Amino acid sequence: MSLLIVRLVVFVLLFWVGFRIWQYWQTHQIESKNNQINKNEDGSETMVRCEKCQIHLPQGNAIKAGEYYFCCQEHQASFEKE
Ligand SMILES: [Zn+2]
Repeated sequence: MSLLIVRLVVFVLLFWVGFRIWQYWQTHQIESKNNQINKNEDGSETMVRCEKCQIHLPQGNAIKAGEYYFCCQEHQASFEKE
């Protein structure tokens, strides 16, 4: 009977460790994907310019609409109206 409990505990432990590895792998995958989009090779973030107010901001914080970038949704909406 106690052997069954030991097997069960080992099974649960293996499952938990496997789940943690999977979770870590998933987080790592997402992070490296984000780095490829937002970061240059030297680690600095690409700066883009808002088409409406000409302010410079990191690409990760900008709103992209086609080939243009905007600092906020208000500027994107008002630029598209013009
Ligand atoms: Zn703006």
